[in-house]
Formats: sequence, C-alpha cells, structure tokens
Amino acid sequence: MTSSTRNKICDLIIKGLPAALFIVDDQYRIIEFNAAAEEITGWQRQNVLGRPCAEVLSSNRCHDQCPLKESAETGSACLGKDAFILTREGQKKFIILSCVAIIDKNGRLENGIELFRDATIIKKLEAQKRNLISLFTHDLKIPVVIAGGFLERLLQGKAGPLNEKQTRYVESISREIKRLEGYIHSFLDIARIESGRFELQPEDRDIGSFLREIVDDFKVRAGKKHIQIALDLPDSLEPVRIDTLQMTRVISNLLDNAIKYSDKGTSIRVIVREKESGQVIEIRDQGPGIDPDEQEHIFGSFYRIPESGTGHVAGTGLGLAAVRAIVEAHGGKAWVRSEPGRGSSFMVSIPGGKNDPLRESSRTTEGKQRMNGEDSQ
Ligand code: ADP
Repeated sequence: MTSSTRNKICDLIIKGLPAALFIVDDQYRIIEFNAAAEEITGWQRQNVLGRPCAEVLSSNRCHDQCPLKESAETGSACLGKDAFILTREGQKKFIILSCVAIIDKNGRLENGIELFRDATIIKKLEAQKRNLISLFTHDLKIPVVIAGGFLERLLQGKAGPLNEKQTRYVESISREIKRLEGYIHSFLDIARIESGRFELQPEDRDIGSFLREIVDDFKVRAGKKHIQIALDLPDSLEPVRIDTLQMTRVISNLLDNAIKYSDKGTSIRVIVREKESGQVIEIRDQGPGIDPDEQEHIFGSFYRIPESGTGHVAGTGLGLAAVRAIVEAHGGKAWVRSEPGRGSSFMVSIPGGKNDPLRESSRTTEGKQRMNGEDSQ
C-alpha cells in the first residue's frame, strides 16, 4: 500500500468516525479535529487548528488531570474517563474520553490522540435512576428500623421471656436487620454525597492516633483469621481536617475488605506518608489482588467482581463507592494499585496544609463541588 493510499484511508476513518476525535502536536496544539468533535463542541475545524486543546475544550480535566499528560507520563492509554467540557456557546456537556500519547525515545510528547463521546444524556439518566433508588431506599429504611426496634424489645423480654432457642433465632434476625440497616445507610450516604446534600463535620485530627484506634478495634477480628495488622507512621505528622465519623467509615471499609478477601495467616499494613499536598494512607494486603480491568469498576455502586474472584464472599458492592464518595467530599482521592495474586493497596489521600479546602470552614459537598466547577446532579 502506498503512503498516499494509507493517508486517504486515515483521512476517511478520522472524518467518518462516529466518535469525536482530535489530534494534538508536541505543544498540545490541535492539528486535527473531526466532524463529530465539531458537532459536540460547537467549534469549527478551521477555528481550532493551531490552538491549545485546553483553550478549545475548557474541560475540568485540562489543568491538573490532563489525560493526555497522564498517558505521556505513564506510557499507557487512558480509557473511559469521565469529564465535562464547555462548548463554544458555554454549555456544559459530560463526555467519556479515551486517549493515548505518542512519545519519542526521550519520553517527550510527539502527538496525542483523544476520542470522546457526549455522555450528557447518560449522566442525566444515571442521576434519575439514583434519585429513584434513593427514594425507594429511604422508604425501605422506616420498616427496617421499626422491625429492628421490636426485635430489640423481644430480646429485652418486654413481650415475656424467650426460651434459649427463641433467643438465638431472634438474635440472628436482629443481626441481619442491623446489617440491612447498615447497607441502607451506606446507600443513602452515597446518594447524598453524589447529590451534594451531605454535611461534613471536619475537625483537626492527628491521623496517627485516629488510625491507631481503628486498627486496635480491627485487631480482634483480624486475629480470628490469624491476620496481623501493622501500622507504619512517620515520626511526625501535621494534623489534618477530617470528619472523624465519615473517615472512620472509610478506613473501616478498607480494613474490612482487606480482612474479608485475604487468606488466613496473611498480614495487612496501614502506611501513612506525608506529601506536599497532604497525607496518603495506604492499606496494603496480601489477598487475591484485583484484575486491572476491574480496578476502576469496583468503586462503582453495587459492583462486585463476579464469582471467579472474590464473589463467594458476602457483600453488597457499596463499600468502595462510599469510600470514594466520602474521600472526594473531603477533597481527596481514593484509588487502588493491585496485581492479581500479589495483593492490593488501597490508597486514600487527604488534603492538608494551606490548600486544604476544609480548613476554612465546615462546608457541604455542594460547596466543594461548586469550588471544583462540578455539577451536583
Ligand atoms: P463488597 O466488599 O461489599 O462487595 P466493596 O465495594 O467494598 O463491596 O468492594 C467491591 C469489590 O471489590 C468486592 O466485591 C471485591 O470483589 C473487590 N475488592 C474490594 N476490596 C478488595 C481487596 N482488598 N482485595 C480483593 N478484592 C477486593
């Protein structure tokens, strides 16, 4: 095939592609912009050629989370990332993008290719679905709480004495009702955080003593599986501003998973590192690890890895969604590093120092989402 034929084929693919596509040069200036990109952004190709892509897209990811820069740094493609852009008319559109950076042998950017599609309708439908489920869950909470209260009364002998067998049965039902209540609370909290109706109660905390208390509580549970938990803290740590109750849920969920999914006799390490932008807590286990394809999905509500992996262990798939939502409400991030068969490290970053958005005052996530320029759908 001659190079002119190859060029014609490439040209046809780029123009006819149903997904939006643009290509940038080594300075992130646009050198190609297809028809689908024109349609989503409202920009004409001739008006964007030669301009920096950040100027044209005005995306929330353009500055500190540019996926093309990330791809250039990591050497791998970024796939299926959520973002939003502002169209030429200033309309906000949600997109799902994938991109890859082509780098030279010195690791410098040669070209970047980004593909994206309009996900605004999907986001709206997701928000509607979430609202419906949370209304339903909210209604479910009342009978569950009432049933739990009556079971408690039965156990206290308020309806007459129970025999040993009856007591055991009622205790089992009561335990399960409490579990159900916990799931309902997690779900409602996630819905509240995502919609911006979640009030944090931040206070200055020394992360060392905060973690020590939680780790001590978990040592008994871990001990039942002969799992050891160690806490590695740097010599001195700046206090951070956290909502103690909510952050306790974050660390507890991660420790709970680490114990639940690891084999007997393994060990868990909780490591804290002080970074310029705050502190990072790592919870490292020697469990089964997580397939790279699953690593982003596990932070979604109700997502559980199918049977082959950890599916035989009881759970709801809500724990990590709550972890991410709470951590992001604090202005931090939650992510995982893992290799199948070699354990997992779940990381939580908590902003600290002057840039800490929670330092000024107690804010709702709504305020913080506005600060980040995000929509609180
Ligand atoms: P749940 O544990 O209730 O299923 P989570 O949201 O906490 O829900 O976790 C989602 C999925 O991620 C789990 O079903 C499991 O497959 C996987 N997972 C979470 N933590 C770990 C871990 N430490 N090791 C291996 N897999 C994990």
